[in-house]
Amino acid sequence: MSDPSLLLVDGRLADGTRVDIAVVDGIIEAIAAPGEMAGKGGNAIDLDGRLLLPGLIDGHLHLDKTFLGHEWVPHAAGPSVKERIDNEVKVAESIALSVAERAANLVELAVAKGTTSLRTHADVDPDKGLEHVRILTEVREKYRDVVAIEIVAFPQQGVLARPGTAELLEAATAAGADRVGGLDPATIDGDVAGQLDRLFAVAERRGVGIDIHLHDGGLEGVQEIEQMATRTEAHGLQGRVTVSHAYCLGQVDDGIAKRTAERMARAGIDVVTAAPGALPMPPIDVLRAAGVRVFAGSDNIRDAWSPFGNADMLERAMLIAYRLGWRRDEEIATAFEMVTAAGAAALGLCEDGVAVGAPADLIALPARSVPEAIAERTPCRLVIKAGRVVARDGEFIGPGSGAPAHD
Ligand SMILES: [Zn+2]
Repeated sequence: MSDPSLLLVDGRLADGTRVDIAVVDGIIEAIAAPGEMAGKGGNAIDLDGRLLLPGLIDGHLHLDKTFLGHEWVPHAAGPSVKERIDNEVKVAESIALSVAERAANLVELAVAKGTTSLRTHADVDPDKGLEHVRILTEVREKYRDVVAIEIVAFPQQGVLARPGTAELLEAATAAGADRVGGLDPATIDGDVAGQLDRLFAVAERRGVGIDIHLHDGGLEGVQEIEQMATRTEAHGLQGRVTVSHAYCLGQVDDGIAKRTAERMARAGIDVVTAAPGALPMPPIDVLRAAGVRVFAGSDNIRDAWSPFGNADMLERAMLIAYRLGWRRDEEIATAFEMVTAAGAAALGLCEDGVAVGAPADLIALPARSVPEAIAERTPCRLVIKAGRVVARDGEFIGPGSGAPAHD
């Protein structure tokens, strides 16, 4: 083994095993019993038995919407999606802090909480054009050594409802967006086939994936998912399509939910959930049993859509378990998988966790097990991205920091 650039001493794996971990060039090079690698070079951090977990994955954020850093903005939106869209346009005019500054604030908050990779949406419409995609690609570049960022070009005001948006989505993929987004084909555009045909054509032509916000409820929403499944297979996009929210699956009877889950699994369509407060949850057990990958995201954080959110994916795992009445260790472990391995797989990242050959994207915290870490949600977290310490005890450090000589 070459001398490690970082040696993590006496960490506790999720199964309770105590280990030392050597990191070389950002990759976990070796995992050994404590003391076996003593005397190797590199910076050493004594974890003193802290729990060592894979970095957290936030699979659904809106970096360009947050007000973080701005003075408090009272929530003024009505309850419907359309009212919230209209309200957001109005509120945006009064926000003096730039999108770039606010997005940076949210990135630093997310990293401080332990997020090492994330997927963000970037609004695209004929008024702002590709401005938010451009801003978020710059934010991605600025923080590239701190967190991996995937960008979805998101038609917040609809695709057909705002003529010219489909062309902008395609242009966005040339300007740095990794995916094209969609939004409620039935209720926002009033033309399910029309929106989906455009999105899938762009995705196939540009070789990118799709992530569709689906708030449309009940059977209407389920039928839209069926249409997505048909197109996913027809365009060869299996494994590259995500449905965000999918509230409809929590509003139909068990038989329909199960049948739809099986259809999604065959087509390779993922679901991402934020465990929203008063809205229906998709049946995660049913989806997972059918073979659907289900992961988790923060969604809106302190923006025109929600005054809440803190980018803490351990808290999101707790909220998922809380909403579903999950209390047993194995259920809480499933919630944890949704904020780590499942999210990593959906974003096309290594899903091996703390393993030799995996990226050294890690968090260490004072807990003895995953359920305890999620119950406690301590702010005392050491966050490591590609073998470099990027945050400590809730404070963002940034990319320039080498590992300290001791903890
Ligand atoms: Zn969203």
